[in-house]
Order: sequence, then structure tokens, then C-alpha cells
Amino acid sequence: MQGKRNISKKQIVEIVALSVAILLAALALLLTVSDPIILPEGDDPVTVDVFTPYEDAGAKARFVFFDITEFLETDNPVDTTKTGDYDVTYRVSFLFGSAEAVRTVKVVDRVAPVVTLKGDAEIRLESIAQFEDPGASATDNYDGDLTAKILPSRTEKVFTEGERKGETEYVYTYSVLDAAGNSGFALRTVIVKDVTPPVITLKGGDSVSVVKGQPYQEPGATAQDNVDGEIAVSVSGAVNTSSEGTYTVTYTAEDAAGNKSEATRKVTVRAPLPSPAAGEPLTPGGSYVALTFDDGPSGNTTAVLDVLKQYNIKATFFILNYPESYIPVLKRMISEGHTLAIHSYSHEYSSIYTSPDAYMQGLYTMHDKILRDTGYNATIIRFPGGSSNTVSRNYCQGVMTALTKRVEAEGYSYYDWNVDSGDADGNCMAKDYLVKNVKNGLRSGRVNVVLMHDASSKSTTPQALPEIIADAQARGFSFVPLSSSVPPVHHGINN
Ligand code: ZN
Repeated sequence: MQGKRNISKKQIVEIVALSVAILLAALALLLTVSDPIILPEGDDPVTVDVFTPYEDAGAKARFVFFDITEFLETDNPVDTTKTGDYDVTYRVSFLFGSAEAVRTVKVVDRVAPVVTLKGDAEIRLESIAQFEDPGASATDNYDGDLTAKILPSRTEKVFTEGERKGETEYVYTYSVLDAAGNSGFALRTVIVKDVTPPVITLKGGDSVSVVKGQPYQEPGATAQDNVDGEIAVSVSGAVNTSSEGTYTVTYTAEDAAGNKSEATRKVTVRAPLPSPAAGEPLTPGGSYVALTFDDGPSGNTTAVLDVLKQYNIKATFFILNYPESYIPVLKRMISEGHTLAIHSYSHEYSSIYTSPDAYMQGLYTMHDKILRDTGYNATIIRFPGGSSNTVSRNYCQGVMTALTKRVEAEGYSYYDWNVDSGDADGNCMAKDYLVKNVKNGLRSGRVNVVLMHDASSKSTTPQALPEIIADAQARGFSFVPLSSSVPPVHHGINN
């Protein structure tokens, strides 16, 4: 066999051994210089909602071509009850190498705060001024109570036409931000419309009278609106005071929202008073006593009349409004020669002295009632408290100044007094006190107009009368009822 090389078995063994040695050396070198590798699973970074559980997706580890996941250590500090960025760290060491990997986990608040209205979501009012904001509350899943951080705002829309004409709509927005910047809000609608018309108040009542030929003085009216406050009143309708009859004066008021109100007043133009019957003429400079009894009729009036009848004395009764049962007493006064005169419709200063018209309406009512009940034309009057009273200042400045002129212009005569019996100084003044007051008050050479009362509480007044009469007669005084023959006794006016 030519060129044939013989390789001995020994040589083969040596070659194989050498090859294995080289391979092993190469492998040893590879294992020595290689590092493990960490392969996290899932996303990085990971976002997690606060308060929701976090489950880490984990990682795998390899070393060269070996799976060494079982040697992996994980540090997971994620606390989902607190927002923030957390690092999940994976570590592995194998042979001569080690590796570390990090995953970022963001725990975040993405939930908006909840705003809850207090009160209704829709409120209807007549004026925005009536709106008292009930407010709102706010809570956040992470920040807790945010009520103090609510920022309210308001928009306004006015409807000038269509179905909602006259309405103004206010939208209140209650908004709040949490620390993470999530916003929450709630809305409230307030619809404002004035639907209530103004209220007209007539000064001096809804029915007034004026005597023919006297001027009609418009007492006026006021209008109050629930939204606009006091507003103007338009007056229409004429009163012709030269012609008797009933006239209507109309008062209208319209508020800013267009709600209208109307009121009317009946104005009666009355016939002038018939002339009063003339009295017995008095002797100039004579000494006279005119006994006058105010505030009746009452249960005491008959007792007074009985004494007057016994002494055949004529006196004057200034009466207030009376029930039907007293008509016979009034008729007796007339038939026994007394003067039936008018005090007032009532004794309530706060009612009769609110205006000249207020007193006059009561006076007309009394005059007409007496005329109807008895046929008597009462034209003599006395103002409650006298024309000098100051109490009327509380109700109407200048009312007595106006009234004293007006009653005379309309044909009445008013009388005050120049002797006070004192029977109104208390409820049941002693008889002797009254007698002494009148005795001391009488002056010769004039008409002594004596103030007395026949109200129900004045029981000592009729008891004092016999002595008063006897004393005056003994001193030469004559008794007269008030009439056009008796010169008026007037106080000074204080209001
Ligand atoms: Zn009186």
C-alpha cells in the first residue's frame, strides 16, 4: 500500500482527547465571561389606580441557554394605598455574574371628586335676591372632603321672548379639583320670574265723600311690589264736585315684569249740609252753662237724661257710633230738647286721625246715620281729645289744622270746652270732685261749656249733676243747649 499512512489507535485517542479539552476550555471560558439576563414580563412602566390591587407581572431570568428564573429575587415595594412612582427590582446572581432590572409602577388617582348639591337642583323664585345658596359638598376617593375647595360660579340668561319670556335663568356651577387635577362639578338651575302683581294701597280708604262745591283732594295711593319695592301708581278718572253723584277713580300699577294691578275708589259728591235749626238767642254778656256729655250713648245716658229732665235742663250730647238698640235714647234726647251732636265715628285716635279724610268719612257716616234713624240734622261736633289735642301728631301731621278748617267749610260747627268736670281724669272719679271742679270753673258773663261724659264707666257723673245744677242756678246761671246761637268755644290748635 503506497503512501498509505497508518494512524495508530493511540493517535486517535490523543486527537479526541485534545478536541474535548479544547471544547471544555472554550465552554469554561464562555461560562466564566457570560452574565445572566433578566427579562421582565408585561409593560414598563405600569399605571395602577390607587386602592386597586397590583399584581406584578414578574420576570424571567436566563443564563446563557439555561432558565434560571427560580433564582430570581424580586423587591416589590408597591403600596396602592398611596399614589406615587415605585420601582419593582428584580435581581439574579449566577456563577460569576449577576443582573438587575427595574420596572416602574405608577400608582395614580384618576377618579374625579364627586360634588353633591345641597337642596334642589332646580329652584324657582320671584327674585334672585330671594336666593339663599344652599351650597354643595365634595368628596374625593383619595383626598377625602374637598367641600372647602369648591369654587362656585354663575351664568345668567335672560329670556325676552317666547314661552319663557320674563324669565331669567341662573346656572350655578360648583366645581372642584382634586390634588391630582381631576375635576368634578354639579349644576343648579335657578329660574327667576316675578309673577306677583304689585299691591295697591289706597290712602284714605276705598270709599270717600266730598261735599258738593268743595274741592276733591286726591288722597293718593301707594303700590308695593314683591320684587321692585315701592313703584309708581297712575291715577285716572275725574271727580266733578259741582255735581252730586258717585265717581270712580282708578289706580293702576305695573311692575318691571309686567304684572299689573288695579284698584278703584268710590268718590261720592254729597249734598251740602242742611242749615242747622236756630237756637234761642242769648243775651250778650249773660251767664250761661252749656252742659256737654261726650262718648255716649251708654247705659249711663238714661240716668243723665233723667236728672236733666227732673231739673228741666237742656244739654248737648256728643255721641259716638251706636248700636240700633240706642235709637230710642237718641230720640228721647231730641224730644226732650237736647242738642244731638257728633263726637266721631269711633274714639280710636289711630284710626280717625290718620288723615283729614279719615275723620270726615266717619263724620259723614254718623251724620247720615243719625238723620236716617231719627230725622235729626246733627251739625255740631266735638273732636275726640278736643281741637287742641297733640295725640293726633302720632298719626298725621297737621290733621287738626286741616280738620278745623274743613268742618267749618262744610257747614259743621265744632265746640271745645272751657270748664272741665274732671270726670275723665280717672274711671270713677268721686262725685264731690266733679262738683268742686265745675263750681270752681264757672265764670259769670260768658257761656261756660262744661266737659262731662256719659260713657258706661262714668256712673258718678249723673250723681254729681243735681248739686252742679243747683249751685249754678243759685248763682244765676242759665242752662242752654249748644246751637248756632252759642258762640263757639275753641282751643288753640297744636297740630
Ligand atoms: Zn271723647
